[in-house]
Amino acid sequence: MMSNKHGKLIIFSAPSGCGKDTLLRELFDRDTNGEFALSCSMTTRSPRNEEKDGVDYHFVTRDYFEELISQDKLIEFAEYNGNYYGTPKDPVEQWLNEGKTVFLEIEVQGAEKVRKKRPDAVSIFILPPSLEELERRLRNRKTDSPETIEKRIALAPLEIAKSSDFDYRIVNDVLERAAEELYQTVKNIKETE
Ligand code: 5GP
Repeated sequence: MMSNKHGKLIIFSAPSGCGKDTLLRELFDRDTNGEFALSCSMTTRSPRNEEKDGVDYHFVTRDYFEELISQDKLIEFAEYNGNYYGTPKDPVEQWLNEGKTVFLEIEVQGAEKVRKKRPDAVSIFILPPSLEELERRLRNRKTDSPETIEKRIALAPLEIAKSSDFDYRIVNDVLERAAEELYQTVKNIKETE
């Protein structure tokens, strides 16, 4: 059903290993009315073990990605750790027109671009309890190569330095607590729009 109210765009960022995906899952579980939508990004990186094309990402070649850029089909894109990541424009516009709350799970360069293009977007940054804890979580994650893990650990302080540009910051210390804070934050954003 179409709504005459325009939806809200929410930028959701965190360093790799902060439990961002789990937090989003918890958030969407609380969305009993189906008001939330999650943008599925394009990426040129290879799928990890369990990842499915069209669900976790649209996995595409660099050529195809560059074609999308030249056709202006992406709201934003960035290079992260040697791969392209970008947000397809059409589905996001459609959800916003339907009045949905649309989440973009993107890294900090993309967040900056969306903020400039869409000043009405609200941004949330997820912080780890500490850098040591983040390192521990990343090293325990068996899905990435040691080189990738080291690169992600090295990027984290740079990403955290950008967290002050975000409207809200939530520390993912205990999952249930952080998920509830996130849900209340999103509820407040929707109510004050
Ligand atoms: P990962 O490889 O761990 O799935 O993602 C690496 C980083 O890219 C994460 O910080 C993730 O949020 C970000 N990312 C995922 N999709 C997009 C996108 O469409 N645009 C941008 N700028 N970053 C993205």
